[in-house]
Amino acid sequence: MEYHPGGEDELMRAAGSDGTDLFDQVHRWVNYESMLKECLVGRMAVKSAVPKDYHEEKKVLNGMLPKSQPTNPLAKESPVSPSYDWFQTDSLVTIVIYTKQKDINLDSVIVDYQDDSFRAETIIKDYSYLIYIGLSHEIQEDFSVQVVENVGKIEIVLKKTENTSWTCLGHPLENHNLLIPKKDTGLYYRKCQLISKEDVTHDTKLFCLMLPPSTHLQVPIGQHVYLKLTITGTEIVKPYTPVSNSLLSEFKEPVLPNNKYIYFLIKIYPAGLFTPELDHLQIGDFVSVSSPEGNFKISQFQELEDLFLLAAGTGFTPMVKILNYALTNIPTLRKVKLMFFNKTEDDIIWRSQLEKLAFKDKRFDIEFVLSAPTSEWNGKQGHISPALLSEFLKRSLDKSKVLICICGPMPFTEQGIRLLHDLNFSKDEIHSFTT
Ligand code: FAD
Ligand code: NAD
Repeated sequence: MEYHPGGEDELMRAAGSDGTDLFDQVHRWVNYESMLKECLVGRMAVKSAVPKDYHEEKKVLNGMLPKSQPTNPLAKESPVSPSYDWFQTDSLVTIVIYTKQKDINLDSVIVDYQDDSFRAETIIKDYSYLIYIGLSHEIQEDFSVQVVENVGKIEIVLKKTENTSWTCLGHPLENHNLLIPKKDTGLYYRKCQLISKEDVTHDTKLFCLMLPPSTHLQVPIGQHVYLKLTITGTEIVKPYTPVSNSLLSEFKEPVLPNNKYIYFLIKIYPAGLFTPELDHLQIGDFVSVSSPEGNFKISQFQELEDLFLLAAGTGFTPMVKILNYALTNIPTLRKVKLMFFNKTEDDIIWRSQLEKLAFKDKRFDIEFVLSAPTSEWNGKQGHISPALLSEFLKRSLDKSKVLICICGPMPFTEQGIRLLHDLNFSKDEIHSFTT
């Protein structure tokens, strides 16, 4: 029990039954001759009578029943700490992380290999479990990451540069093999290459960045990353929210394969500090991209019936993935409505895509509100207000489960939240995007 890197819980799943399927699923690589033979304590014999004294029986089993766990002072607040293990063949090194969690997926793990250092960060609720090692030998740039969701196991397969046997994985670096609150981990960056830059409106562009081959990173819905550039000798960092490359991706093939590319809709402010520099980058130039942050939880969509999105200007960016996800993955969803606040018609990001989406999917409605329209505009006008909101936020059923997401300039978001409370929406029904 103590020897097993996956812990007692994993072993106990097969206790008293045929564990072959479980073994094949999670442990195909374990070599019986070299490893398991050491663990053989005897053959199981079927006893004819139920033991009279259970405690006596426990002693006979000689430690094979779980011992009482040592008390972990952090146990109440933090998840159970994951553990890891590694093994090798001639050409591959596999690192296995046993997260001991069920809701782990490919978004939960961020892997980087930079300057001979290997780093795998697993996000577990508000915590981060880090494998951070200066590798003893060189590996190739690309690797594979797989997650066995039902057992919470992550497998990272590295390719050796030379077919030699490694005696150790390497030396531990800062916070290696520790579970620490995510807020204490600091931002970790990797250099991404600018692949394309397309005009979307007169001042907003769609940027496509490519992750290095030695990075596995997927930005979860509703989260943002930080972009970093060195401007006149100083590192400048600003947050941006990745989007999908289109609102209609469900209806067309992605132009580039998923996962290696991150898209951003970014407004260029001529008098701004960061965005003009970003705009001056040439295709092929590099920008540093941090690991994702944010407190939006996909569980907020559970059983959702009505989704209302209030976006102003580039505050539309978190709504892009939310829209795509909600319309394809929430079976209970009845209605999605976006109220999109902009100054003028020319400022509306992806207007025709939004209109096409509303035409194709009857659950989706879009309403544009302009604060500085021309005289030809005959749609809604003004700023966020009680009148606009009370008319817009109608539940499809009396007690339908509602989520309202709001994002835009701070005064817009703050005013919006106040108005939503006045309209008796509860805290749980509102998600505001702020840092
Ligand atoms: P800044 O230098 O910050 O200036 C912005 C504007 O304000 C300019 O017009 C400038 O002249 C004016 N200004 C600056 N200082 C003052 C002042 N003291 N008084 C009056 N005016 C002033 N933006 C996007 O385009 N896309 C996104 O996906 C996105 N995601 C974000 C996610 C989060 C979580 C947050 C918090 C922000 C996000 N932003 C996004 C905004 C982004 O982070 C930057 O704030 C924005 O790009 C402006 O940066 P800048 O350095 O170019 O401009
Ligand atoms: P903008 O200046 O073009 O304004 C868009 C609309 O916002 C206006 O038409 C108006 O309806 C509303 N608005 C603006 N100022 C207001 C005020 N003082 N009171 C009430 N309503 C107001 O917007 P922009 O230049 O595209 O800026 C977008 C903002 O969204 C930025 O501040 C950016 O930081 C923020 N943003 C935040 C996130 C996030 O996740 N937190 C993501 C993206 C963008």
